[in-house]
Amino acid sequence: MARLLEGKAISERIKKQIKEEISKLNLKPVLASIQVGENPAVSVYIKAQRRLSEELGIDYQLHKLDSQISEISLIEFIQKLNLDRAINGLILQMPLPKHIDYKKITQYIEPKKDVEGLHPENMGKIIFGKAKILPCTAQAVMELLKEIQIDLYGKEVVIVGHSEIVGKPLSLLLLDKFATVTVCHIGTYEAGKLEEHVKKAEVLIVAVGKAGLIKGDWIKEGAIVIDVGINKVGDKIVGDVEFETASKRASFITPVPGGVGPLTTTLLMRNLVEAVKIQYEL
Ligand code: NAP
Repeated sequence: MARLLEGKAISERIKKQIKEEISKLNLKPVLASIQVGENPAVSVYIKAQRRLSEELGIDYQLHKLDSQISEISLIEFIQKLNLDRAINGLILQMPLPKHIDYKKITQYIEPKKDVEGLHPENMGKIIFGKAKILPCTAQAVMELLKEIQIDLYGKEVVIVGHSEIVGKPLSLLLLDKFATVTVCHIGTYEAGKLEEHVKKAEVLIVAVGKAGLIKGDWIKEGAIVIDVGINKVGDKIVGDVEFETASKRASFITPVPGGVGPLTTTLLMRNLVEAVKIQYEL
């Protein structure tokens, strides 16, 4: 039976480190959050970010913009925050309304204030192993792996999902640890090869957003399973992996909720502290 790999205790430890770091900074970091229009999911993220900011001594400033705002006006707003020296970090809440191209807009966030690590400059640094600000979810997965002290050298790691915020940056972070990385996506699935790849995984990371996509009996005996997926099924939140059956085969498995989730907002705040250090060359 697998041991549960939970994020809460790790998150508490990181929060303690963040508080210590902030106490040494001699300033109260300011995090600006841009919300375009109303979205219930975004309101939940904002509430969690605001609560954690208060706990850590961070000034959380919410900027609510009209859902009809043009791309140009949004870019101008971001540029204004970029130039405001009092602001240390900037988050653009997703999802954005359909008429706004998030990939285009992200490029206008000052890389030194890009606490989500999504600017191409910060993404590019991952290739060289030089990134100080990393996408939070990819970082959360690396923290979970660090927790169980697994030596990734030469390990068969399979990632399912190749999004910009999870699968792609994660593949580079894992390569940096000399893991043998396979990245599966919709093409793998449609070619009927997903099961074949998943069955080889000594470490399996799934970030798709489809409940039950990964069957429990595909899990290799003793594998480490990190389920990033969040799906609402009835009134329950579940991951992408069939938890009960997978737990019987894996050595470690993240619960959903409670695995990756508790770490992401905390790591956003750690990125903010990193951003302050970069801005003040500390
Ligand atoms: P995304 O941008 O929609 O990416 C999903 C990925 O899965 C894409 O690469 C997609 O490929 C691939 N995919 C879709 N169907 C597939 C299939 N049948 N087989 C294999 N691959 C398939 O989503 P995301 O933002 O990365 O998020 C993924 C999941 O993680 C979601 O459930 C999200 O809610 C969750 N999440 C959780 C946290 C957390 O804090 N726990 C943070 C972020 C995200 P194509 O693009 O080629 O279709």
